[in-house]
Amino acid sequence: MPDGGGLIYRVQKHAARRLHYDFRLELGGVLKSWAVTRGPSLIAGERRLAVAVEDHGMDYADFEGVIAPGSYGAGVVLLWDRGTWEPDGNPAAALASGSLAFTLHGEKLAGRWRLMRMKPRPRERHVSWLLIKSQDAAARQPGAPDILDERPRSVATGRTAEEIAAAAA
Ligand code: MN
Repeated sequence: MPDGGGLIYRVQKHAARRLHYDFRLELGGVLKSWAVTRGPSLIAGERRLAVAVEDHGMDYADFEGVIAPGSYGAGVVLLWDRGTWEPDGNPAAALASGSLAFTLHGEKLAGRWRLMRMKPRPRERHVSWLLIKSQDAAARQPGAPDILDERPRSVATGRTAEEIAAAAA
């Protein structure tokens, strides 16, 4: 479901077996998804590993809560950012070519970004990409505060991951 006519964009902070940030872009009726192990950086040119994971359904876009132990993705999910995104040109073709340039209109992340596919390695289960902020007015300079530390709370409920976990216990 588009937000105000655009394609939706979401980041879910996911305290699973290993903490990561699930970066999701609506395309073709699903959420294309990447697990960003260190989370996105607003510093222009800083490369963040983004491992392509399974598409998620649109109904998952606003999920926040606790996934039960033993289930896929068990752990705390916090809706860290939300908004819309705009691809440059044809996004399906760009993804297939391994280089997607786009603009984010989120509450925390904005401006121009790129996702670039890395060369696949033998026996790799998931394809690795790099998520990189482009230089623009929304970018931060090296040494600037990290948006992940600066704004850790949920955009939906204002809660921390600890508060979400406690509410479900
Ligand atoms: Mn995840």
